[in-house]
Amino acid sequence: MKTPLVLEIKCNSLDDGPGIRSVVFFKGCPLSCIWCHNPESKRVPTEISFDEQSCIGCGTCTKFCTQGALNIQNRYYIDREKCNLCFKCVEHCPAKAITRVGVEMTHEEILKKVLADKPFYDISGGGVTLSGGEATLCTEWVGRLAQMLHENGVKVLVETCGFFNYELAAEHLLPYVDGIFCDIKIYDREKHKKYCGVYNDRILENFRRMYDDREKYGYSIMPRVPLIPDITDTDENLTAIAEYMQLVGVEKTDLLPYNPTWYSKNDKLGVQLSGELEKLTGWQSKEKTEHARQIFLSRNIKC
Ligand code: SF4
Ligand code: SF4
Repeated sequence: MKTPLVLEIKCNSLDDGPGIRSVVFFKGCPLSCIWCHNPESKRVPTEISFDEQSCIGCGTCTKFCTQGALNIQNRYYIDREKCNLCFKCVEHCPAKAITRVGVEMTHEEILKKVLADKPFYDISGGGVTLSGGEATLCTEWVGRLAQMLHENGVKVLVETCGFFNYELAAEHLLPYVDGIFCDIKIYDREKHKKYCGVYNDRILENFRRMYDDREKYGYSIMPRVPLIPDITDTDENLTAIAEYMQLVGVEKTDLLPYNPTWYSKNDKLGVQLSGELEKLTGWQSKEKTEHARQIFLSRNIKC
């Protein structure tokens, strides 16, 4: 059984489903959306991150690096070609400016951490959200976690990009899930490939199957559309998605207004972004969001 790395477990979240929730973020995603809000979650292996804003310039880290990988002249501070991921610098950084991205955790360790907040889930109608990266990347392992949560009386919600093996999910994950948030980003398959790295046939098919199977497995499902300037928020794309949703029978969707704060996160990972992405550094206007909403409302899809 493939085991995912855990990026973070965020407690007391009010943004990732109903009520008070703990969110388990897994590392690794089969898509590579150019605007990804969690770039640290894109790649599967462990990484190292440097946050310039937190660094106090004490130089402690350099005393522990045997690879000569740390250099203030380097725009990203860490030379990832030289770094062997020993994480000695992480252990000794007093400001937590250098951090390890992705850790192994057992089912039991995750369960112990999230069950501590069960009284809050119960009182608020909340639970645990499995997110990413892509929560279904290691379907069997994550399904086992969902089953354990389910057996402990915790409501489980999965956030997914929809790109997974449906048969595997139907066997190992869907029976233990109470809610699904599934992104529908771009309808045109060539544009989906261009901006998200894969064709969207499997995503559209999986969403339709999840929607049809919602009563069989007893979960609710919400499609979500991220509004990315001039990429997903065009009239052409939103109209095509709304028409697809109508065909599937969707009555309600969530629109996710664009948030540009992901942009600077790439620096921490030593990832240089291309000039094409410069246009994605601004906030989205309320008018644009409202215009997008009207496209769905006019097709009787609430949002
Ligand atoms: S992880 Fe190890 S090799 Fe990499 S920068 Fe830190 S101390 Fe150097
Ligand atoms: S130990 Fe941490 S705070 Fe000190 S220089 Fe290194 S990264 Fe910056």
